[in-house]
This record gives sequence, C-alpha cells and structure tokens, in this order.
Amino acid sequence: MNTEHLKSEIESVFSYVKKPRGLDLSFHKDECHQCGYLREDLDQYQEMELPPEGIREIHQEMSCLSPQGWRWALPSYLRYCVTEEAVRSQNEAEFLIYNLAPGEEYQADTRKRLSALNEQQIACLEHFLEWCQVHSYWGQYCSKEISEGIAFLSTVRA
Ligand SMILES: [Zn+2]
Repeated sequence: MNTEHLKSEIESVFSYVKKPRGLDLSFHKDECHQCGYLREDLDQYQEMELPPEGIREIHQEMSCLSPQGWRWALPSYLRYCVTEEAVRSQNEAEFLIYNLAPGEEYQADTRKRLSALNEQQIACLEHFLEWCQVHSYWGQYCSKEISEGIAFLSTVRA
C-alpha cells in the first residue's frame, strides 16, 4: 500500500460528513465527565472538516467519540495521517493504530464505535494499517499493534 494509493482511497471512501450535534457526538451521554469535556473542547470545531489542532485535541480521546463522532472525525484524521506534518509529529497516527487494535476487553466498545462506517471504510482502515506496517517509523515501533489491528478489523468487516 503506497501513500498515493492510500490517499486516493481515503478521498474516495471517506467523504466529509456533518458534525453530530450535542450529545450525539460522544460515546457516553450525560453521566460521563470525560465525554463532557471532549464535547466542550470540540465546540470550537463546527465544520465537516476538522483541522490538525482539532485532531491533536481528540487523538487521545477517541474512545469518547460516538459511532457518528468517529464517522465525522475519521475523514479529517486519516487525511492528516498521510501528510508530512503527521509523519513528523508521529503521535496522532500512533494513537489511531492503538485505537484500532483494542485489547479483548475493549473490543465490544470499539466495534460499536466503528458501527457507523460502511464496509469500504472499514477496508480503508485496514489499508491504512497496512500502510503503517511498511512505514519506516510505525512499522518498526508499532508492528505488534498494527498486526493485531489488521486481524481485529478483518473480524469487524466479516
Ligand atoms: Zn465517556
């Protein structure tokens, strides 16, 4: 999976969508403070496209986003991950890898968060991980998580 290939697949399967409103954005609703803080932090971003500052805001909090929240964030997040800026920064892509490779006890929640995506989008996430696998940095430092993520996503798609 080369970068140009991945970029064009992301372009074709991950169209930007409207930001979910209010409580629809977060995984938990009223009772969770962490989800509440994330909703507040993301208040400044109302567009379909989330800028790099917004991605830095969510990259450690992806478990607080609802299925619709993931569907909104991923088009921007994936486009960002294949930029030079993301390769230099490393953290955001690394956390996406971790989020796609949940331990057994987190798999049910992760499946739920991925449930608003279609089959092509799940396949594209797998291709993103395949791209990371051959990348000089992530392929070396996250190779275990990348393999686990690919195996997990193939069960989500099935
Ligand atoms: Zn929460």
